Amino acid sequence: MTTFEDLLEHWDGEQAVIRRDRESGGWIFICMHSTLLGPAAGGTRLKVYDTPADGLRDAMRLSAGMTAKLAVADLGLGGGKAVLAVREIPTGDERRALLHRYADMVASLRGGFITSSDVGTGESDMDVMAERTEHVFGRSQAKGGAGDPGPFTAVGVFHGIKASLAQVYGTDDLSGRKVLVQGAGSVGGSLAELLGRGGATVLVADVDEARADSVASASGGSTVDAESLADTECDVYAPCALGATLSASTIPRLRSRIVAGSANNQLATPEDAERLRAAGILYAPDYVINAGGAIAINFLELNGRTQADVDVSLAGIGDTLREIYARAEAEGITTAAAADALAASRLS
Ligand code: NAD
Repeated sequence: MTTFEDLLEHWDGEQAVIRRDRESGGWIFICMHSTLLGPAAGGTRLKVYDTPADGLRDAMRLSAGMTAKLAVADLGLGGGKAVLAVREIPTGDERRALLHRYADMVASLRGGFITSSDVGTGESDMDVMAERTEHVFGRSQAKGGAGDPGPFTAVGVFHGIKASLAQVYGTDDLSGRKVLVQGAGSVGGSLAELLGRGGATVLVADVDEARADSVASASGGSTVDAESLADTECDVYAPCALGATLSASTIPRLRSRIVAGSANNQLATPEDAERLRAAGILYAPDYVINAGGAIAINFLELNGRTQADVDVSLAGIGDTLREIYARAEAEGITTAAAADALAASRLS
């Protein structure tokens, strides 16, 4: 069985703060992977894991990803992540009490770690945490926060798709381009509307058919069966649901020239970046193209910047991707490797 010692021994992060949360029977892990560029920032995941070590492993891995993502986004922030590994998802007073205990832990780090929502938590949870610490973002608009980051993330992905079209077709014009949006949720729903308005032909796939229908009609598009999407012919495949949809088994079946979407950890294995390159498919590295929500929250809640500043910075995601594509082409490497190299250069 993997122990905390084994995991921590092989982790390259700076600091992990661990609380055995006796009141709930769970564990709280705050992993501060890097504070080189600023406070360690990252979301708070609330989830049931098979073992506590699985929760710690997730926090360590995700915090390293945040270091790279925030370095490329150039926000003056380091990378972190927190996991509340619970026995069952709490509700009501129990949830509130857990969030307060966790918020006190965040407060004790005096700004070394700052957090927002992630899988299993949302803006109302951030509002509860804000009752105990100022180092929490992604609060509701009613409480002075930026609200749901999904629509901001969608704008960043939209700019990323245009930069990718320019790279492959020599023009970023959306008219007549077919874009398949997988996942009609917070990001995918907004993205589909932006694409539809921009003149693209939008295809929507979601396991929740009613959601797919409503997003398809709002974007003037149509739906595709969630099961058959890998075989659907399109110019751009935008994964906005789950991770690991790009693998040795799906890549040969893809019928698109571009993969550009918001999902985290889209590559099932690092080798899939090379598989995409060999197949002639341009891949927009996930952590670069999906940084819009983090950028907006940081600007609006942490730095007091305006919506106009946010708009400029979200458009900058397209510029960053252009730089990454140029580097990948010049050096004969994958776009994922070029993104990692950009992150490494900012951290060196
Ligand atoms: P969401 O929960 O609002 O929406 C996800 C949608 O995907 C849901 O409608 C769900 O029914 C659908 N879905 C689930 N499994 C599916 C499948 N197998 N096939 C098709 N559809 C499926 O999530 P979201 O906030 O829109 O985020 C989407 C993705 O983007 C996630 O991977 C998330 O981690 C990532 N991401 C989101 C943000 C953000 O700002 N929300 C930022 C960065 C990354």
